[in-house]
Amino acid sequence: MTSEAEKARRKQLKDDYLRAEQAASAAFMPLDRPQLESLLEHVDAAVAADGYDHSPRAADDWARQHDVDLDRLHEGLTEFGGYCDCEIVMNVDPEAVFGQIRQPPR
Ligand SMILES: [Zn+2]
Repeated sequence: MTSEAEKARRKQLKDDYLRAEQAASAAFMPLDRPQLESLLEHVDAAVAADGYDHSPRAADDWARQHDVDLDRLHEGLTEFGGYCDCEIVMNVDPEAVFGQIRQPPR
């Protein structure tokens, strides 16, 4: 039989685990939130204007313009499933990178 206290404790452990996981993933991201939002806007506009070729070409252009190391950027983006421009726009959500998975218990 599972008591309410035990359930709450397990939920707490799971939340802690999810937050630790998220912090570990976010640590790969060499950008802060405004930079990531700027990158996504650039990629989105570039893909809309030029189409995409399943490379991270627009993201790389942005990184060169903003003096961001390409290897580190790729490491950060692929951690979130952004292997090419369209995946970056689809998968790399600033909310997921920087937001909290759940609100801490009140
Ligand atoms: Zn693609």
